[in-house]
Amino acid sequence: MGLKKNLNKMNQKIFIKTFGCQMNEYDSNRIFDIVKKIGFHKTENYEDANCYLLNTCHIRDKAKEKVYHEIGRVKKIFKSKIKPMVIVAGCVAQAENEEMLKREPYIDMVIGPQSYHKINNTIKEYFEKKKKKEETEFDPTAKFDYLSKIKNNSGKISSFLTIQEGCDKFCHFCVVPYTRGPEYSRPFNQILDEAKFLVDNGTKEIILLGQNVNAYDNEGNKLSNLILEIEKISGLERVRYTTSHPKDMTEDLIEVYKYSKKLMPLVHLPVQSGSNKILNLMNRKHSINEYLEIFDNLKKINANIEFSSDFIIGYPGEDEKDFKETFDLIKKVKFINSYSFIFSPRPGTVAADLKLIDKKISMQRLEKVQNQLFHNQMTKNRLLENKTLNVLVENLAEDKTQVFGRSEYMTSVIFNGKKSDIGKIVPVKIKQSNRSTLFGEKINNLNQKVA
Ligand code: SF4
Repeated sequence: MGLKKNLNKMNQKIFIKTFGCQMNEYDSNRIFDIVKKIGFHKTENYEDANCYLLNTCHIRDKAKEKVYHEIGRVKKIFKSKIKPMVIVAGCVAQAENEEMLKREPYIDMVIGPQSYHKINNTIKEYFEKKKKKEETEFDPTAKFDYLSKIKNNSGKISSFLTIQEGCDKFCHFCVVPYTRGPEYSRPFNQILDEAKFLVDNGTKEIILLGQNVNAYDNEGNKLSNLILEIEKISGLERVRYTTSHPKDMTEDLIEVYKYSKKLMPLVHLPVQSGSNKILNLMNRKHSINEYLEIFDNLKKINANIEFSSDFIIGYPGEDEKDFKETFDLIKKVKFINSYSFIFSPRPGTVAADLKLIDKKISMQRLEKVQNQLFHNQMTKNRLLENKTLNVLVENLAEDKTQVFGRSEYMTSVIFNGKKSDIGKIVPVKIKQSNRSTLFGEKINNLNQKVA
């Protein structure tokens, strides 16, 4: 009797816990699409699980310890129960690989982000030989070829779609080149097929993912070509992409904002610091002037385009002048929806052993930056009050009496819509706002002008 029949008969349930970025979310969904083929069912209740999969993130401090802590929690939960098969996937699995199996015997399998297409065979071997397994080869071509034969059934109103993986930039603070490998761009038509399948199954917005998404280049097809091709898919309403590097904001990509009808006017472009000195120390390969040139060129095309970004505060060598330059840049560009963190030394990176800035100073600087980012967001949201926005409705709001959606700027909007509005773009008059959310009323008279 084949493994699938066996597992089906045993009604195997998998619980998947995902840490980290949108790409880990995409990977977790695709992992489930794969193990479903051998009879696994998904459970949201980890106590019911026969298989416990942790999809891990390695981007910040204590990432590794967080995984062992989580395994410790699983051990307690299953103390008086049948031990589930425990799989650690994602970037910590890639960075730590067989060390994890040695350090924590409760773990049965370690699978890297470029090897999860092998999960069914690894599970099969585990069942047949009770052999612990580690799979951390970098093989994105084989992975995506395998995935292209398995339907992406995790489509939601707004769906992620990985188009590029890995990175060749080697910023001195970042582990991604080591945990996700060299830059790899998926075949153009393979992406289009997956996009069509998602839209045929109800997706209205596609968010194109890559660690360096604007470095996408497959046989001369660049991100600009992909956006213009994907937006031809009827039924698709919105296109977004993340995460970009300023160095790859090429002219053709900026030009797309002139022609595209579905590309949203929010550009997520991490800058990390406002100081050229720090950008050099980080090996970011661009200057602040080059960054502002991108900003100016996009604003010339559409003055309503807004920017969001990532900031690392307290990078080794950052002095008051450097910090002031970061703060001034945040005020100048008026970034919205942005992320900011204190520098976290990552093992194996160039910056791993650099002398840290006094923690107290870093904390004070982070607080100042976050207050300014919050202020930018509040100001932007206040300006939208009494305006009418196009909102893509994603689902019912928590109170189940209203609905939740997002504006063109990814800002959350809650309003008095109906379940039947889910999946639609609805004009909403904004009545109130706070830092993270806009509250409004559905406009039934469609002649109302949309902001
Ligand atoms: S470009 Fe981004 S993913 Fe690549 S090394 Fe730099 S921070 Fe990491």
